[in-house]
Amino acid sequence: MKMNNMDISQIINELAEDRENYFNAVSPPIIQTSNFVFKKVDDLGKAFEDEMGGYLYSRGLNPTVDILRKKLAALDGAEDCLVFNNGAAAIFAGVFANVKSGDHIVSVKAPYTWAQKMFDVVLPRFGITTTYIDGTQIDNWKNAARSNTVLYYLESPNSWDFALQDIKAVGALARSKNIITLIDNSYCSPIYQRPIEMGMDMAMQTATKYIGGHSDTLGGVLSGTHAMMKKIFDSEYLNIGSGIQPFNAWLLIRGLRTLPVRLHRISQSAIEVVNFLKQHPKIEGVLFPLDETFPQYELAQQQMKGAGGLFTFVMNTDKMESIVKFCESLQHIMMAVSWGGHESLVIPKCAGIHPKDFDPANKEHRYVRMYVGLEDPSYIIADLEVALREI
Ligand SMILES: *Cc1c(COP(=O)(O)O)cnc(C)c1O
Repeated sequence: MKMNNMDISQIINELAEDRENYFNAVSPPIIQTSNFVFKKVDDLGKAFEDEMGGYLYSRGLNPTVDILRKKLAALDGAEDCLVFNNGAAAIFAGVFANVKSGDHIVSVKAPYTWAQKMFDVVLPRFGITTTYIDGTQIDNWKNAARSNTVLYYLESPNSWDFALQDIKAVGALARSKNIITLIDNSYCSPIYQRPIEMGMDMAMQTATKYIGGHSDTLGGVLSGTHAMMKKIFDSEYLNIGSGIQPFNAWLLIRGLRTLPVRLHRISQSAIEVVNFLKQHPKIEGVLFPLDETFPQYELAQQQMKGAGGLFTFVMNTDKMESIVKFCESLQHIMMAVSWGGHESLVIPKCAGIHPKDFDPANKEHRYVRMYVGLEDPSYIIADLEVALREI
């Protein structure tokens, strides 16, 4: 597979690794340092002037983080990227650096929780407003844009109902209106979707999920042009201090080594589990972008190369207790937030709903989000089968 004219194997195994400089070790060192030494006042002065030009202090650039940064930018097919301590920080910096008081944002409805909190709680304090739209219709993007709209915020697919946006069409529309675009590409990762090549200005993804892959670290990526990344580095990145730490960056480099094989396995297993659930009488339906029953299946096939292991199923019951019983009857599949690790997970939507507000007529209340991990698919299916028999 070629990414940005570079083989993905080269990006993962070689790019940015300068082994001769560290004893020809295959695995890169964790440069666990806060600061870097200078011999010449002139060199120190230059580092003050352009902190992105070299190593001064690890709140800015760090050599271990830089190895990861170069690999992730290449995976995204972007000129450059910044690596954050988590995905939420990457979203925050990407948005915050591009808005000022009086500006307006158009966002897909129900974006990732902490994107929504920023739009609803933080930005209004600075006089910045957000309009949420159903992003599946290109006309909604057109109609919601005002003269003070500066940013379109996308998340395709969304991570609960997997609603897609036509990324190329939204990108072209935004360009024609001089509106900056930022997409949350966490669901697909750059292995399965390349938003920068489709006309997005910035792509973000959480590295906590597939890149880390072992549920043992957090990380976030924001990519785009070098000019955009430098602008964000010189302001929000250094100011908020939300860059990733060297050890966590090292864990993500390690995660990258096996990213394609893990994703391949997870994608294959997810299809098996989806097919099992689809035919089960206690399941009303499954929401999975690359299943032919998905409302935007055609668009998903056009812009995604794969779908990974995350999907939602709708339980065929009118009782919240049945959903609770099902989730609590699983013996191997764990109940937890997040996804992208080795372990299969479920999370029922009703966990956030007060029992007296549970309305079975509302399909969403009967959603269970599932992530299929690296276990044997027959092991996962057997666990689901037993728990479904309990209700
Ligand atoms: C997890 C997640 C994030 C946030 O990433 P963190 O690393 O947890 O901060 C953003 N978007 C989506 C779709 C996610 O699933």
